[in-house]
Amino acid sequence: MWIGIDDTDSINGGCTTYLVAELIKELKEYGVVGYPRLVRLNPTLPWKTRGNGAVAIQFGRKDKVERESKFPIAFLDGNLIFGFAVGKCEEEKADESIIKKVSKIVERLAWFKDPKTNPGFVVFNKPLSNDFYWGAVRGVLSQKEAKKEIERRKGFYRGYKNERGLIGATAAVSWEGKDFTFELIAYRDPEFFGKSRGIDDESVKKLDRECPHTFDNWDWKNDHNRIKPNSKGPVYYGIRGEDPSELMRGKELVKSEPVHEWVIFKTNQATDDHLARKQIAGVKPYESAIIEGKVCKAPVTIKGGHVIFVLEDKTGVIDCAAYEPTKEFRSVVRELKVGDLIECYGSVRKERERLTLNLEKIKILKLVKVKAKTENPLCPRCKIHMHSVGKGGGYRCRRCRAKASQKEAVFKEIPRKINLGFYEVPVCARRHLAKPLKRMKYPTFFTSNF
Ligand SMILES: [Zn+2]
Repeated sequence: MWIGIDDTDSINGGCTTYLVAELIKELKEYGVVGYPRLVRLNPTLPWKTRGNGAVAIQFGRKDKVERESKFPIAFLDGNLIFGFAVGKCEEEKADESIIKKVSKIVERLAWFKDPKTNPGFVVFNKPLSNDFYWGAVRGVLSQKEAKKEIERRKGFYRGYKNERGLIGATAAVSWEGKDFTFELIAYRDPEFFGKSRGIDDESVKKLDRECPHTFDNWDWKNDHNRIKPNSKGPVYYGIRGEDPSELMRGKELVKSEPVHEWVIFKTNQATDDHLARKQIAGVKPYESAIIEGKVCKAPVTIKGGHVIFVLEDKTGVIDCAAYEPTKEFRSVVRELKVGDLIECYGSVRKERERLTLNLEKIKILKLVKVKAKTENPLCPRCKIHMHSVGKGGGYRCRRCRAKASQKEAVFKEIPRKINLGFYEVPVCARRHLAKPLKRMKYPTFFTSNF
């Protein structure tokens, strides 16, 4: 049986991932199949609570799953919890008592007071096809569509308030997980909730150096500790990476107040699943896209330090933006010249009447040659440099009055400061779903039946 939950947290506290920990404790008589899942959905939606992350977990009958191989997935209530390899678990059916237990947890831990928090949970006895997931990570789905999918798959659901959580809850179960990473989330003792998090920065740097398959731990250029969330609530820190056992080793390196509990999630973070290849004419607000095109208007820095340029393809033009929080990435974008051929990766927002692509990374495919005038033309008769007549007016010899055009000046190619290939925003500005370049070098190497 599968359980999916979404939209229980608030800017002011709570965390949907924590409900998974509670669920594992509450449903002790069942075995956890695979890893619990943390599934990030469309990052452009204006009504999302925080990271727009939903959770799902599969339970099987303990005596059946325990025959399979096991691996540590959590530490809860002082006990190490194991997950079991996927297989032979479908026969476990959810009943009234399970639904009651899930409702109780959601009703106890969700932040109902926040008007933007609209919880929902789903229970399925069979896995779902992944179509619903793709709709929820790349597009905009409605509660009605979620209910239709749940009914079609004979699932159970309970929505609260406007029931928006049903969309993410269903999508989290529907995620197939072809490309994936892991995140170990450490939780605080409840008595520390809401207090500032003491994490030794040096130990996070050590983690980053010594665990090569983790990512987004520390921003070396901006001195930013990325494993620590900004929000209040139960999450102490999260370590992201490719290898669950390395995450556990990483946890031992981080110096902090004692970690109360932890859970390892299999996630779609750092997979670029939100991005679809598109032409400019086909781009819509609240979508994310990869667009290949030429720079048709050079970058300008606007108020607030944001850098904007215009990209064109044969179907249209679109503004592309590297916002101030993307820090040093902006100096790369500022080096782009009209005519450069690039691939832009990012999310589409509608700002004023124009669509703007909020850049996550770019791939430079072709750089135009840039020439600069180094000398005014020589007068062929007098062998002296001519003088400029004024902007666009060409040149004239002061001695014999001979004229020359703009083009006759001496031009020299100037080296470009950027190269072909990828450039990405720094760790401190990274979106959950954005695939770091570090991951592009290491394709997913864990393909077993998690
Ligand atoms: Zn002359």
